[in-house]
Amino acid sequence: MTPTPNPLPQGEGKPSSPSLPTPMRVVIIGGGFSGVMVATQLLRRAQNPLTITLIEPRLLLGRGLAYSTVHENHLLNVPAERMSAFPDDPGHFLHWLNQRGNDHAGCFVPRKLYGVYVQAVLDTAIDEAPAHARIEWIPSEAVALLPQEGRAVVRLENGQTVQADRIVLAPGHFPSGDPTVADGSFYQSQRYIRQVWGPDTLNHLTSTDAVLLIGSGLTMVDIVLALHAQGHQGVIHVISRHGLLPQSHQSSTPYPSFLKVPEKPTTLRTLLRRVRQEIVEATLLGRDWWAVMDALRPQTQALWQALPLKEQQRFLRHLRPYWDTHRHRAAPEVAAVIDQLRQSQHLQIHAGRIAAYQEHADRVCVSYQPRRGSGLARVKVSRVINCTGPNGDYRQIEHPLIRDLLALGRVRLNPLNLGLDTDAEGRLLNAQGKASSLLYTLGPPRQGGLWETMAVPEIRVQAQSLAQSLLTQDA
Ligand SMILES: Cc1cc2nc3c(=O)[nH]c(=O)nc-3n(C[C@H](O)[C@H](O)[C@H](O)COP(=O)(O)OP(=O)(O)OC[C@H]3O[C@@H](n4cnc5c(N)ncnc54)[C@H](O)[C@@H]3O)c2cc1C
Repeated sequence: MTPTPNPLPQGEGKPSSPSLPTPMRVVIIGGGFSGVMVATQLLRRAQNPLTITLIEPRLLLGRGLAYSTVHENHLLNVPAERMSAFPDDPGHFLHWLNQRGNDHAGCFVPRKLYGVYVQAVLDTAIDEAPAHARIEWIPSEAVALLPQEGRAVVRLENGQTVQADRIVLAPGHFPSGDPTVADGSFYQSQRYIRQVWGPDTLNHLTSTDAVLLIGSGLTMVDIVLALHAQGHQGVIHVISRHGLLPQSHQSSTPYPSFLKVPEKPTTLRTLLRRVRQEIVEATLLGRDWWAVMDALRPQTQALWQALPLKEQQRFLRHLRPYWDTHRHRAAPEVAAVIDQLRQSQHLQIHAGRIAAYQEHADRVCVSYQPRRGSGLARVKVSRVINCTGPNGDYRQIEHPLIRDLLALGRVRLNPLNLGLDTDAEGRLLNAQGKASSLLYTLGPPRQGGLWETMAVPEIRVQAQSLAQSLLTQDA
C-alpha cells in the first residue's frame, strides 16, 4: 500500500532497532514519476537495511506535473505499449491496463489513469519489499540541504529536518517565467494566468471570453482541450515565435536504425543532412517521416553527446522548435480536436513575438510583432495564459532549494543552462566539477547533458541504474 503521509519528529529519523545495522537512508526529493520509480527500484533491490524517505507536497504520489491532471481528454502522448514503468518488462503497463478490461494496444490513454498505474507500481513494490526495506512519505517540500560529514540534513518547508546518506533530487519540471516585454507590469494583472497547471486555472473564464495562449506546444494543447471540455465558445488566440503546432502521431511499422553514432564530434549540419536524406529515401519507399524520426530515439542521447557545445547551442537556437513539434507529437484524437477548432476559427494561431500589453477595464489589447511582415498586429482578449511550458533554465528558477544549492556551489548549471551538470551516472557535479557521492538526479534536470531525458522511456532506465548505484557506491 502507498505510504500515508508520515511526518518524522523534528530533527531526526525514526530510531532503528538496536540489534540491526543502521539502515542506509535515501531521501528522495520529489514524488512524481522519477522519484517514485527510484523508490520502487530501491525497494526491489535492497539487500541490506534501507529506509527511503519520499518528500512530496502533492496529495498523491506518482502524479507529478504530467499525471495530476483531472481532465479525461488529457491523453498520454506515447502509445500504451511504450509506457511500461520497467525497462526490462516492456509490456507491464499494457498488461496492467488489459487486466482492467479492453485491449489498449496502440491506444493513447488518459494521463490521469497513468498516474493510478504509477501509484499501483509503488504499492506492489512496497507489498513485495523485504522486511529490512521500508519507505515513508513526508508531505512537504525540501528547501535546503546542510551537508554533515559525508551525510546531509534536508530541511523541509514545514520546519522538519531529515538525515540522509544519499539524496535523489527529482524535482521534475519548474514553471516558465514571463515572456520578456519592455513593460512587464501587466504580469501582475488578474487578467494574466502564470500558473497553468493548477486545478482552478480556467475557473474565472466565462464561456465566451476570448483568450490568448502564449506558446504553441503541448502545454497549449492541454489548455485548449480543457477549454473545449468545459464548452468554451470564445476565440482562442495562440502566439508563439514560429507558430508551429505539435504534429500528430500516426501509426507506422518501425523503421530500421539508420544512423551510426559518430566516433568523433560532429556538426549539426552533417547530422541534419543525413536525417533529411533518409527521410527522402524513406518517402520514395512509401515510408513516413515520423517512422524515421522514431528510429532516432534510441540513439538521441548519444547523438546529442557527439555534438560539441557550440553545435548544441546552434541546435537550441535554430532547430529546437522543429524538433519539439516533430518529436513530441500529440495523440491522433487530440490532434483531431485541434484541427477541428482551427477549421472553425475558434483556434487562431499567430507566429510572432509579443511586444506590449495594454490593459483596459474589460479587456487587454496585446500587440505583437508578426514573424513575417512589418508593423505590429493586435489581439483583444479577456485573459492571457502563459503556456510556454516547463522551464529548464535553472538560473530563472526561484525555488529556495535550487537557489540554495547553486548559491553554495553544491551543484552547478549545465553549460547550456539547461538543467544541472551531472556525471554519466546522474551524480550531481559541484561548482568545481567534482561528482558528489551524496547528491544524485534524474529526468528533467539532466536535459542539457542528455537532451532526451524527460519522458518515461528514458526516466525508467535512469531510475533503474540510479537505484543500483545508490545501493552499491560507497559514500
Ligand atoms: C504536461 C505533460 C505531459 C507529459 N506527458 C507525457 C507522456 O504522455 N509520456 C511520457 O513519456 N512523458 C510525458 N511527459 C514527460 C514527463 O516529464 C515524464 O513522464 C515524468 O512525468 C517526469 O516526472 P518527474 O517526476 O521527473 O517530474 P514531475 O512530474 O514534475 O514531478 C516532480 C515532483 O517533484 C515535486 N517537487 C518539486 N520540488 C520539490 C521539493 N523541493 N521538495 C519536494 N517535492 C518537490 C513536485 O511537487 C512534483 O510532484 C509529460 C510532461 C508534461 C509536463
